[in-house]
Amino acid sequence: MSLLNAPLAPQPEPLPEPAFDAHTHLDMLPGPVDEVLAAARAAGIVHVVTIGCDTESSRWAAACAAEHADVHAAVAIHPNETASAQAGPGGRDGVLAEIARLAALPEVRAVGETGLDYYRDSAPPDLQREWFRAHIEIARAAGKALMIHDRDAHDDVLDILAQQSPPEHVVFHCFSGDADMAKRCAEAGYVMSFAGNVTFPNAGRLREAAAVAPAELILIETDAPFLTPVPNRGRQNAPAQVAHTLRAVAEVKGLDVAEFCQTVMATGERVFGPWRDPP
Ligand SMILES: [Zn+2]
Ligand SMILES: [Zn+2]
Repeated sequence: MSLLNAPLAPQPEPLPEPAFDAHTHLDMLPGPVDEVLAAARAAGIVHVVTIGCDTESSRWAAACAAEHADVHAAVAIHPNETASAQAGPGGRDGVLAEIARLAALPEVRAVGETGLDYYRDSAPPDLQREWFRAHIEIARAAGKALMIHDRDAHDDVLDILAQQSPPEHVVFHCFSGDADMAKRCAEAGYVMSFAGNVTFPNAGRLREAAAVAPAELILIETDAPFLTPVPNRGRQNAPAQVAHTLRAVAEVKGLDVAEFCQTVMATGERVFGPWRDPP
């Protein structure tokens, strides 16, 4: 059974203070956006950042953010999509010009997801690195945060960031490093966004990373429709489920949940710019 045919995860108990979902794919969720956002609000999730992975989904994310005050967009060509983007209409320069145009829009708050994915082999590493560098330039030129996808590529991602001055705010989405990687990110001032996999029973190393990451450099995300957190694994993920992951990270860090919600919201505004008033 495909994930999208799985039953919807039950609604979590609302968080005591508002929080937000730092990385989700609203275009991949089967439900109407308004229903997904209403369910998120009922759980205390008052903003979501929806992510583009190719030209079409980046345009979709920007349009969705323009339409909803509680949605903010990130636009990019995902590292796994770089080979097909390069071979597709417009080629490399045309596609990157369109990403740069979208990145300048006020409702677009980040360039991503971009980065390196050495786990999948749909695009050669050289090509991924070239597109990653181009995305860093776009983010810096637009003055937007950089939203990084890093899968099995920690050292190369950190090296490229060190070589090429990145924008002020860098977010490692679905942070997957250990405590040592978390320390390296913290030293550079990079933000670590934890997804539902931090709640998985076998994720001890990831919880150690969350334990050492400074609270003000942590964000929480769903990466929905992927990575549904405990206790709803096997069910369909949605932004409302960020409540479970936020509680789990607060517990690892010994933080009060309400205070941690406030910290995460403040970090979100620092990274993505001031929220617009929700409807
Ligand atoms: Zn990703
Ligand atoms: Zn994603």
